[in-house]
This record gives sequence, structure tokens and C-alpha cells, in this order.
Amino acid sequence: MTGSQRLQAVIVSVGNELLYGETVDTNAAWLGRALAARGIPVARRFTVGDDEPEIRAALARATAQPGLVLVSGGLGPTSDDRTRSAAAAHFGRPLVVDEDVRRSIEERYAEEGIEEVSALAARQAEVLDGSRVLRNVVGAAPGLLLEADACVVVLLPGVPAELRGIVEGDLSSALAEKGLVDAQVFHRVIHTSGTPESALAEALEARLAALPADVVANIDLAYLPDLLGVDVRFTLRATSQRRAEARFDRLQDAVEDVVGPWSFEATTGDLAEAVIRLLRESGRTLAVAESCTGGLLGKRVTDHAGASDVFLGGVIAYSDAVKTSQVGVAPQSLDMDGAVSETVAGQLASRVATRFGADTGVGITGVAGPDGGSIAKPVGTVWIGTYVDGRVETIMRRFPGARGEVRARAAQAALTHLYRRLLER
Ligand code: ATP
Ligand code: MG
Repeated sequence: MTGSQRLQAVIVSVGNELLYGETVDTNAAWLGRALAARGIPVARRFTVGDDEPEIRAALARATAQPGLVLVSGGLGPTSDDRTRSAAAAHFGRPLVVDEDVRRSIEERYAEEGIEEVSALAARQAEVLDGSRVLRNVVGAAPGLLLEADACVVVLLPGVPAELRGIVEGDLSSALAEKGLVDAQVFHRVIHTSGTPESALAEALEARLAALPADVVANIDLAYLPDLLGVDVRFTLRATSQRRAEARFDRLQDAVEDVVGPWSFEATTGDLAEAVIRLLRESGRTLAVAESCTGGLLGKRVTDHAGASDVFLGGVIAYSDAVKTSQVGVAPQSLDMDGAVSETVAGQLASRVATRFGADTGVGITGVAGPDGGSIAKPVGTVWIGTYVDGRVETIMRRFPGARGEVRARAAQAALTHLYRRLLER
């Protein structure tokens, strides 16, 4: 999908504060993402202080190869702002006052009640001869675009909001006009939970290989795994959102039966959001009884505004005594099978639902570690029960990882199990 003559960008960040570590260079990071989204990779970055020879040297290196050069910072009116004069000297373009810019700065100051536009402010109306002014709707100093040494060079103010406003506004239009960005980059993410990255990749890639070329052409694929699941991200370049969505829809239809058993839809990417939606759509309520997750499941659900429509509450049934007295787990089950068992997980799910008057219930009981494991029930062993419409189902999982990871994975597995059961109905 990459042409060999693809446009590349170089970023030059100017400011002593960046070198001394007083300011983190968020502009360069933001520009890197903004350019990548427009299909322009950043090849190199330079950081220099507020020093004219240093800025000139960086401009010389940045423009050594054809491409787009973005310079951030040092456009202000004070004596430590040297980018404008350094660029003027390097490119051999005199500084001239732009009357439109001068007027807009005067108006800006007048609005703020300042009558006399000082000489310092007027300096911000100076542009490099032959450069194009990129409007700054947030602050005073505009951005400047000039073509020199087979490069498109853009000077941008250092204040992040001003820089972003110019890039998203006039600079984007200017690059599109020049045909430098003909297409934008679009993503489609499919969230999955409950299957390892390797298994998902194997199944998905076998399917993709079997699809007609026009369905998969120029679409990149990335797997983004974390503790809770794997996001599958498709990326393509297109000239409009509508075209991009149409291609994504076709691709997603073609892989639906492969990823469908694991995928869920949630704008936040959180499975709890998807569970709440299914509960709400089917008019069901939920109660939970948690042992090893200590309320984590309840937290995951109540992280979402509007959870009160479906979530009645829960019990942190940590001790055996609370499992029996507050949830109604049978003492014989605890004695015979142990707290971490299929029977107890099932009872936690069904009895908390009954006690709370909920349509669905979840019970979680396990060994989060680092202590408490045995040969039969090693650390990471978790039993999960779900109760839906009068019927209990249970699963057992052995999770790797430290205590926090086991707990996080257990809550996610419980949500996954409940989600799948609600979908089935
Ligand atoms: P101004 O017109 O405000 O003087 P300028 O173009 O001269 O703008 P600078 O003086 O270099 O920009 O920086 C203004 C402010 O923007 C600084 O206080 C700094 O906190 C912030 N800033 C500058 N460069 C960066 C950067 N690369 N990343 C994040 N913040 C930055
Ligand atoms: Mg500065």
C-alpha cells in the first residue's frame, strides 16, 4: 500500500525549555500522530534551543531531502523567539510586514482593550517574503508556509492549542490543495474478549487469505492485545469517510463468522458497556456476588453512566460466613467442595440474583494469589457462575499473572460469559 515516492516529514522543535526538560515536547508527538493520520510518516525529529545558529543548522539538515518540514515554536514577539529570523536568514528571504496580519493583530489587541499595538506585537506581523500565511484563530502569530529547497516548510507557533488549530485548519487545506494529502487514514476496530491473540490471528488470517483481492487490498491489520482482550484494528486510506466505511463493512461481513464468537461492540471498548446494553435491550437486571474480585466486577459495570437502569447491586462475599449469611450459599457445599468450586460459583450467581430480585446473576470465586494455591487449585484458578433466566452455567479458568492481573482477567471473563449468554437468548 506504500508507494516508493511517499512524502515524508521532518519535525523541528525549537525552545530552550524543551532541551532543559521543563516542557515535554507534546507538539512533536501530536504532529507525529496528525501526520500519520494523513498518511505522511515522520522520518526524523530535531530539537534545538532558542538559538539562531542552531535553528539554521537544524533547518539545513531538515531540508536536505525533499519533504515536508514542520517547525514548532519561537514565533512569538519576544527576543528569545528566533525562528522567524533564523528561517529568513537560512532561506534568504527578507522579513516583510503582512498588512492583513498586522490588521488582525491590531483588532485582536483592540478587543482586549489594548490601544497601542506595541512594536513587539507588530513583529508578529512580519512574514518571510513569498510565504503563505496560515491563520491562527487561537493566538496572534500566524503560521507560515514557504516552498524552498524542494521542501514545503511550515513555521508554527509553540503554544499547543495554536499549533493544532493551524494544522487542522489552514495547513490541512494547503496540503490538500497541493495534492500532498489526497487520502486520509481510517481505522475500524473489532474488540474481542476470551480468545488468545495467536488463535484469533490464525483464524482471521486464514480467512483473509481466502477472500477476493478487492476486499482486502490495501487494508492493513494490527492486533492490539491487553490484559482483557485483543483489539483487531483494520487501517486503510480513502478519500472520504463514506468510502472507508463501505470497504470496512464489506471486510467485516466477510470475517464475521470467524471473529463473531469473540467480538463485542462498545464505543468505549469496554465489555461492561456491551453487557449493560444487552441487559437494557432485553429489560433484564443484574446482581453480582464477588469473592476474589472484591467488587471489581461491580466497579466495571458502574463505571458506566446509566448502569442503574440494569444493575441492582452486589455482595463482596469474601469470607465463607458472608457467602452463607448474605448470599445463601449452602454451608455443606463450602465444606464438601471448598469456596473455590463449581458448586459455590453457581450458588453465588443464582442466590444473589434471587435475593436481589434480579433476572441475571454472576458469581466469582477463585485463588488470586500469591498465597492460597494448592495442587488441585493453583493460584489463578477461578470459577465463574452466571445465572440467566433461571438457569445456571459455570466455567473454570486458570489465569496467569500476579494478583491484580488474575482479578482483572476474572472480572473480564465473567463479563464475557454473561455477554455470550445474553447474546444467545
Ligand atoms: P508565542 O507567540 O506564545 O510566543 P511561540 O511560537 O514563541 O509562541 P514558544 O514561545 O516557543 O512559542 O512557546 C510558547 C509556549 O508553548 C511555551 O510556554 C511552552 O510551554 C509551549 N510549548 C512550546 N513548544 C512546545 C512543544 N514543542 N511542546 C509542548 N509545548 C510547547
Ligand atoms: Mg520558546
